[in-house]
Amino acid sequence: MPNETNHTDTTVLRETADAAIRLYENLDRRHVAVQAGYRELCARFDMPLPDEGVEPVEVLRDLIRDSEGGLVGSGGSRFFGWVIGGSLPSAIAADWLVSTLEQNAAIYQCSPAAAVLEEVAGAWLKDVLGLPASSSFAMVTGCQMAHFTALAAARQRLMADRGIDVGRDGLYGAPRIRVFAGAHRHESLIRALRYLGLGSDALEHVALDGDGRLDAASLERAMDQDADRPTVICLMAGDLNTGAADPFEAVCRLARERKAWVHVDGAFGLWMNASPQHRASLRGVELADSWATDGHKWLQLPFDNGFAFVRDHEAHRAAMSMSAGYFIAADGGGRDPMNWNPEWSRRARGIVAYAALRSLGREGIASIVREACRLADRLVSGLGRLPGVEVLSAARMNQGLVRFLDEGGDHDARTDAVTEAIRAEGTAWFGATTWNGIRAMRISVCNFRTTDADVDQTLEAVARVLERD
Ligand SMILES: *Cc1c(COP(=O)(O)O)cnc(C)c1O
Repeated sequence: MPNETNHTDTTVLRETADAAIRLYENLDRRHVAVQAGYRELCARFDMPLPDEGVEPVEVLRDLIRDSEGGLVGSGGSRFFGWVIGGSLPSAIAADWLVSTLEQNAAIYQCSPAAAVLEEVAGAWLKDVLGLPASSSFAMVTGCQMAHFTALAAARQRLMADRGIDVGRDGLYGAPRIRVFAGAHRHESLIRALRYLGLGSDALEHVALDGDGRLDAASLERAMDQDADRPTVICLMAGDLNTGAADPFEAVCRLARERKAWVHVDGAFGLWMNASPQHRASLRGVELADSWATDGHKWLQLPFDNGFAFVRDHEAHRAAMSMSAGYFIAADGGGRDPMNWNPEWSRRARGIVAYAALRSLGREGIASIVREACRLADRLVSGLGRLPGVEVLSAARMNQGLVRFLDEGGDHDARTDAVTEAIRAEGTAWFGATTWNGIRAMRISVCNFRTTDADVDQTLEAVARVLERD
């Protein structure tokens, strides 16, 4: 039978929008943990690719029905695992629009509106995050690629200072770049070093102080050995486990004297600068050379939104720019995103950032940060008041750590078991981590939908699990 499907019919768009809105509205009432295992999901989805197409409406209906139970409730208000964040309706709407507009935000002439919206959103982001207005920026898929982009600029500059054009010559014969970071650095930093040909062995760990902040005196001693080596220092605006921020002012001073490059991993923590009452915790962060952060965590954008900012825009452009015979020059000074990005064809993700930033305003963003910090504090201290719970790290920023004490002394096993039992109970979701060699349950509050009632409901659920087990 010939395929009768009308692929230009837009019914599937309307139906799916309605279904997606219903799912979104029910996020906070769903079981937060996964219900369906791998085998079950394969049984639902895995089939031979059909010869004849299936009606789009049917495909989407099946998709929505069959993914039930295989989804994690990470968009909901009682999801406290990793650092994930929710999505604002304004950002989701803009994201839908981006898909339907099908603009290629590679060069200005491919979508002038997308290029201008991205340029404006980039300027707003620097403003909100307290970064130098003259810095260049890139909108990428996430913090991973923001590290890659910013460190490509660092590599460009450090080599140019030594008379090497790394874009032309590569790293053959170049002096080895060393990268200082604390043991609290994120794995995505290492992968960026691998992408850039610097290698994971370029990393040299620097001691942390008792608060989990990079120890500036140890760094200074390490830098002064082999002082001529090209050097990158990677600082954390927000330790993954404790929310501690590194001593930016002291490190940036050391780095400037020695012509080293300071990069900041501010995936979530850089957003502390958006709240006037929290800004002090990042004092001096604006003195760094580059910054990487996410829009899909604390700014509440859907995934596929990371941002890199670079003080030395010449090095940034030199690392990323390109030209081809079929490019058309931007008119009137427009910005070609491609010159700042590792991608070629790319999603017009600047439109999503623009919509969210404008709909929240400065105060809206500040209040998301403020509320998450306040609720993290309530949640961690509330957990600490339950019997058999020890607070390992009181809430700092939006992060905290607790563990569950075992009468027999095996606190690690009990902590893992209780964390798992809480997830299975279905009200709230927490992850486990190893911190200073011991197992802990990690608390991260990163969703604008989380309220005091969610904290209360979570504390009641944890109390029930503790009584039962
Ligand atoms: C999430 C995270 C990253 C990685 O960001 P992606 O957006 O997942 O690429 C890097 N560093 C820190 C501190 C993070 O929290």
